[in-house]
Amino acid sequence: MTETEFRLIPEVTPETEHFWRGGANGELVFLHCESCRNYIHPPSPVCPVCLSCELSPEPVSGRGTVATFTINHQPWNPSVPVPYVIALVEIDEQASLRLMTNIVGCDPEEVHVGMRVRVRFTQHDDVYLPLFEPDES
Ligand SMILES: [Zn+2]
Repeated sequence: MTETEFRLIPEVTPETEHFWRGGANGELVFLHCESCRNYIHPPSPVCPVCLSCELSPEPVSGRGTVATFTINHQPWNPSVPVPYVIALVEIDEQASLRLMTNIVGCDPEEVHVGMRVRVRFTQHDDVYLPLFEPDES
């Protein structure tokens, strides 16, 4: 199977370009507040912590931990192979920085809460979708 058949390709806007195109450089990029150093996701014009508008894109390590997940067995789309894992990954840099994504590169039954994962990207034209795979290192 390819791992991308079921994905919807997002619309890239000026506000989300850093996130969807960071993978071109192998980087997972979030907005970062210059004032309180908080990472922000999903993108917002204003920092939700300190209300500063001084935000700029900044890459993170791309490593994180599975906070919660579900295994989808339902063939919602006949062209989409099941099962696949939908997970909330907590990024290492900040406990509140969480990303809804898919876990790939392993048997869905191996995924567990607390599992260490790292980002990998799948490219669709100029959009790079961040997925996560087991991080054994
Ligand atoms: Zn802030």
